[in-house]
Amino acid sequence: MSKYRLRILNNENLNCSVSSCLKRRSGLSKYCRGHALRLNLYGSPLGTVLLKHTYKQELVEVKDFILRHSEHKAVKAAITFFDRWLEDAYYGFPVLAKEQFSKLFEHGIRGKDCIEVFLSIWLYSHRFYSKLPDDARLSYALSIGIFSLKDKSKVKASVKKAVGERLRQALGIFAGNVITAIEREVVVQEALRNDLFTPFKER
Ligand SMILES: [Zn+2]
Repeated sequence: MSKYRLRILNNENLNCSVSSCLKRRSGLSKYCRGHALRLNLYGSPLGTVLLKHTYKQELVEVKDFILRHSEHKAVKAAITFFDRWLEDAYYGFPVLAKEQFSKLFEHGIRGKDCIEVFLSIWLYSHRFYSKLPDDARLSYALSIGIFSLKDKSKVKASVKKAVGERLRQALGIFAGNVITAIEREVVVQEALRNDLFTPFKER
């Protein structure tokens, strides 16, 4: 038996590294087949799919925000950031995830569409941290959200990871500023609503 085959056999006798999982490991992975698959798809053995309708409320808020701030320097710059990426991919420049961004451009997806999904997913993660923690899972979710604007084909884990990390690095501060502004507006709206419910005292 080859050394490689022996290593696999030994590894497959061990338990999956997810503490609550009782299954055996798969191949040379630290995880069982199911958890290894999740790692590959969502960036963590505990990752789960983030369906579009899950962050639909955030998407409504973000779209409204972008509309009201469309002339803001940072909003314009963020849209341009994506537009350049899409165009460069389409015209054959050697950019990251060229194939995916080129297809998106071809299907009519533009920077504004990308920034809306990007911010909605980040806002969702901010609000529901336990469902989408701010780790590799967020990086993967950001990539998947943008890629699935049109293209449904499978994307390599390494591409999802690289795109997510690039986005966080380039647009992380912008995303943080937008989220702070949106959440501040929510607080103001709630205070206004509470004021309306204040009863009148008897004289
Ligand atoms: Zn497992």
